[in-house]
Amino acid sequence: MDEKTRIKIRKDDMVMVQSGKDKGKVGKILKVIPETRKVIVSGINMIKRHQKPSKKHQHGGIIEMEGPIRVDRVMLVCPKCNLPTRTGHTLLSESKVRTCRKCEEIIDNV
Ligand SMILES: [Zn+2]
Repeated sequence: MDEKTRIKIRKDDMVMVQSGKDKGKVGKILKVIPETRKVIVSGINMIKRHQKPSKKHQHGGIIEMEGPIRVDRVMLVCPKCNLPTRTGHTLLSESKVRTCRKCEEIIDNV
């Protein structure tokens, strides 16, 4: 896969929203959906859904849940310097690592 199609964000990453009503909010990636290039972030883009009554929710009603947002609307928050950053990739001996472009720290292995 080339640079354009690869999603650099992964599950459990902390990200900051860059646009829209949740701009500036930080959350954890709950799910990456590569097919649509969207992500689900905890507490971000909450949408209300009508729940039909079921065994679990006997009365039904409205539930709030996270809706998917486009991956290019979020930016990774570096766990080292705590700033939203674009990530770089560096070849370190044998393994490829994600690095923070702000503090140059290694974030993790790719
Ligand atoms: Zn950093």
